[in-house]
Amino acid sequence: MDPLAAAELEDLASDLRELRQALAAQLQSSDASARPVDLNQPIGRVSRVDAIQQQSMAKANRQAAQLRARQVEAALKRIEEGEYGACLSCGGEIGFRRLKARPEAGLCVGCQSRREGRGA
Ligand SMILES: [Zn+2]
Repeated sequence: MDPLAAAELEDLASDLRELRQALAAQLQSSDASARPVDLNQPIGRVSRVDAIQQQSMAKANRQAAQLRARQVEAALKRIEEGEYGACLSCGGEIGFRRLKARPEAGLCVGCQSRREGRGA
């Protein structure tokens, strides 16, 4: 696979900056819903279970967004350092098509699937 062209790199950099903004907005708006459920509040047992379920979903979403935000930051840093586009594990090219789909990706497809235990 060929190294990224300057135009491709610029394209991915702007995707990453947009993603960073979107994630920051998402994290901000999920702040309120991730607040602990007040168990002393007289809302009834069923709605309490409901609230706790919703809350744990909100928490999981939030954690996923936080993780992704960190990956986006790391990817932007790699662009600054001129290391973006190379697999963090094997050093091979990640490839534009994969990066276009997931600009924060730090691993090539092969390394990613090995890490997820699905074989290469
Ligand atoms: Zn790799």
